Amino acid sequence: MRINPIWLVLLIPSAAMQAPAQPRKSVFVITDAEGVAGICRQEQTDPKDPELRQLLTGEINAAVDGFLAGGADEVIVWDGHDGSQTLSAATIHPRARLVIGDIGPRMTLERGYAAVAFLGQHSMAGVRAGIMAHSYSSLGIQNMLLNGKPVGEIETRTALAGSFGIPVIFLSGDRAAAKELHDIVPEAVTAEVKEGLARYSCITLSAAAARELIREKAAEAARKIGSIRPYRINGPVTLQIEYTTRNSLPISAGTQPGSELVDDRTIRIHGKDLVEAWTRYQGR
Ligand SMILES: [Zn+2]
Repeated sequence: MRINPIWLVLLIPSAAMQAPAQPRKSVFVITDAEGVAGICRQEQTDPKDPELRQLLTGEINAAVDGFLAGGADEVIVWDGHDGSQTLSAATIHPRARLVIGDIGPRMTLERGYAAVAFLGQHSMAGVRAGIMAHSYSSLGIQNMLLNGKPVGEIETRTALAGSFGIPVIFLSGDRAAAKELHDIVPEAVTAEVKEGLARYSCITLSAAAARELIREKAAEAARKIGSIRPYRINGPVTLQIEYTTRNSLPISAGTQPGSELVDDRTIRIHGKDLVEAWTRYQGR
C-alpha cells in the first residue's frame, strides 16, 4: 500500500512546534523629562507643557520603533515624570503599552521583563554640568547615598532591576546621564541627545536628529538583550537620604523598623538587601 505524501507532511512536526517556547522579550521603559532633547530649563519640564509632551512622546515613539526593530516583542512605557501626567494613549506608539500612575517601590519589575531602558533621563544630584541634575526630587533631596556612594535614579533603579535579574540595556539623555549608566553598566547602549554647559544651559540636538539617534541606538540595545548582565548590589544595604533645608523630616522619622535619624534632615534606612531597604524607604 502506498502512503499518500500528504500524510507524511502532516505527520512531521514543524520546527516551530519542536522548539521550546521562547520567553517574550518585553522592554520596560522608564521615562522622564529632564533628559529630553530641547529641554534645558526647569519651566520646560511642567508635565502639562505642550512642547514637552510633543518632544518626549516623539523620543519615546522612536525608541519603541527601535526596540521592536531590534527584536523586542513588546514595549511597556511608564510615564515616570512628575506625577505621571505627561503621556497620552492618544499619541503613544500604537504598539506600546502605557503605564500611568504611581507604580510603587518594585516598579512592576516582578513581572519579569527581559530588559529595562531609561528615556529622557538626567544625572544624579551634584553632577558637574549635569542638565537639571537631581536625585528624585530637585527641591526636596540634597543627596542620596547607597552604601556610602552618591546615587540617583539611574543607579538605584538599575540595581533594583538587577535584584529582579533584569538588565538595563539603554539610556537616552544628556552626556552626564549616559556616563552615569556606563560607569555601572559599560555594555549598555546610550543615545546622548544633549550636552550640559551648566544646570540650565545646554547644546542640544534637534528633535528630528534626537529621534533618529534614539531609534538606531534602541535597535542596537534590543539586539544585545541576553548579552548585557543585570547590575546587582549584593548583601545588606544602607540608604542615606539627605533632604534639603526646606524639607526637614517629620517628627516621627527614624522610628520605623530599619530606619535611623541622623540629624534634622538626614535619615538612614537599613535593609537585608536593596529591595527591603528601598521598600522601607518608599513605603514610609
Ligand atoms: Zn527624574
